[in-house]
Amino acid sequence: MRILVVGGAGYIGSHVVKELLKTGHDVRVFDNLSTGQEVNLFENIEFIKGDILDIPAIEKAMEGMDGVVHLAAKKAVGESMEKPDVYALNNLNGTINVLNAMVKNNVKYFVFSSTAAVYGMPSIEVLDEETPLNPINFYGFSKKMIEEVLSWYDRLKGIKFVALRYFNAVGYDGEGDVKGLEKNPQNLLPIVMETIFGVREKMTVFGSDYPTKDGTCERDYIHVSDLASAHQLAFQYLVRENQSQIMNLGTGVAHSVKDMIEMTEKVTGRQVKYEMGDRRAGDPAALMAFSKKANELLGWQPQHSSLENIIATTYRIYQKYF
Ligand code: UDP
Repeated sequence: MRILVVGGAGYIGSHVVKELLKTGHDVRVFDNLSTGQEVNLFENIEFIKGDILDIPAIEKAMEGMDGVVHLAAKKAVGESMEKPDVYALNNLNGTINVLNAMVKNNVKYFVFSSTAAVYGMPSIEVLDEETPLNPINFYGFSKKMIEEVLSWYDRLKGIKFVALRYFNAVGYDGEGDVKGLEKNPQNLLPIVMETIFGVREKMTVFGSDYPTKDGTCERDYIHVSDLASAHQLAFQYLVRENQSQIMNLGTGVAHSVKDMIEMTEKVTGRQVKYEMGDRRAGDPAALMAFSKKANELLGWQPQHSSLENIIATTYRIYQKYF
């Protein structure tokens, strides 16, 4: 297939591109390089620098495509609570521009990067796709809105989609083919790495009074290469079944912030300087996925997501930069 990867120079996008190339697809990347990087652009792809808010540019990029992976979005939970206007513009307007460009160019298949943040503060521990959606941060809300738009575009415009609800994306390509570090990362593991390498003097653990085993938040950390493989499986599914789906991508195991720090110290042999701080707005205590649907419909299962591998692959790329 000829696939447009919107946001293909970014952290998750570059891993997705690698997987699509590996499985024989032709790839065109559209990216504004705001957080993605040119060094992440693989050989044998076509690259268009552009922004999803630029309607003529995204329409042009769509020409001749069979499918789209859309990953261009703002994704920092904390920031989304401070700048909902920025998140509305990029994640809502931007995605609608992409969808309308698909309609205009008769592109039928769409794989969307959604998130566990659509669930909010669930009362149960392990979440399946039927768990009620009740986002507690604007980022999660923006993704939930797009999932709803997608079901309407399916009904009214015939776009068949797979929305992948990523749990916490971590790790780097184990073969070292993704070269660029994410710019201005705001997620836990990059912050832990920056602390190890002295970019930050110390880090703060956001909250120590959550109802979890050690009082810190628990998340389901999934290796980005495992997320990437789901995207190509999603296209296979769409072509085979011509049916839209929403599915979780996680490991079914949760680790606390303290677990992540301690395992990093063990794997790297280096100390992580941290202090306990206040809770961060918009953080649920624990999130963990049931990914049975992805397993049954796509034949997907995580293969790279041991905590050791996640931390080792991340540490390796940080060692190259710092
Ligand atoms: N976290 C933290 N300190 C930091 C960054 C993150 O304690 O400097 C915690 C955060 O509160 C959450 C977990 O690490 O419980 C994962 O946060 P991240 O921002 O990576 O992903 P999120 O789950 O918010 O999408």
